[in-house]
Amino acid sequence: LYVNHPLGAGQSVPLSREQSHYLFGVMRKGVGEVLELFNGHDGEWLGRVVQAGKRNGILLCERQSKPMQLPPDLWLIFAPIKKARTDFIVEKATEMGAAQILPVQSDFTNSERIRQDRLQNHAVEAAEQCGGTYVPVVHELQKLSKLLDGWDVQRQIMFCDETRLGSGEALPSLAGPWAVLIGPEGGFSPAERRRLNEMPEAHGVSLGPRILRADTAAVAALTLWQSALGD
Ligand code: SAM
Repeated sequence: LYVNHPLGAGQSVPLSREQSHYLFGVMRKGVGEVLELFNGHDGEWLGRVVQAGKRNGILLCERQSKPMQLPPDLWLIFAPIKKARTDFIVEKATEMGAAQILPVQSDFTNSERIRQDRLQNHAVEAAEQCGGTYVPVVHELQKLSKLLDGWDVQRQIMFCDETRLGSGEALPSLAGPWAVLIGPEGGFSPAERRRLNEMPEAHGVSLGPRILRADTAAVAALTLWQSALGD
């Protein structure tokens, strides 16, 4: 269970109204039961229910059950697509251990707006579901060109480019932080592709001989990165 509250031995943790309603109204949890808690920075803790109010439950932190596990410094940059597919990307990127999720508007992006708060909640739910202790940060939509203007040259880019159709390529095994970059349904514009190809830190990669949908490409690329460079 994700809580927006510090966790530590003897710490009392108030639950939100929604969480109290769900746990004590819907799931019928009661005083004395133990739940696994995390807040994204203190690891996982076991919390005992000491007050089971349907609007104002309280847990008491007993002991740490998992140390904090920080994910690798990996970003997923993607152009938002239809709502359900964007939700899918955020959910899967969380499961795959991305540390930051950056939706971008590229030349051929069809989506002008995202609900950052909704996507952040999806990341929380996905982290709860996969037993993670970390919740990736979901950023507001920004322009890809602006993001590249201020690019930190220390961070390598895995530039997923379907025009390099092939059977898949090896990623250069460069240490340090990485970002996986996935284009929108219409792909990258020629100008974007030119710009990326000129950046020494951008490494064009094929994900195989077929054109994948952007949501599939995100999962495939994160898997490829994980197997080549993850720990
Ligand atoms: N431009 C394409 C078109 O309209 O035919 C489709 C783009 S694809 C649906 C969306 C994104 O997924 C691409 O921009 C790329 O980042 C990634 N992608 C899909 N298939 C890929 C492949 N075989 N290799 C590398 N990247 C791929």
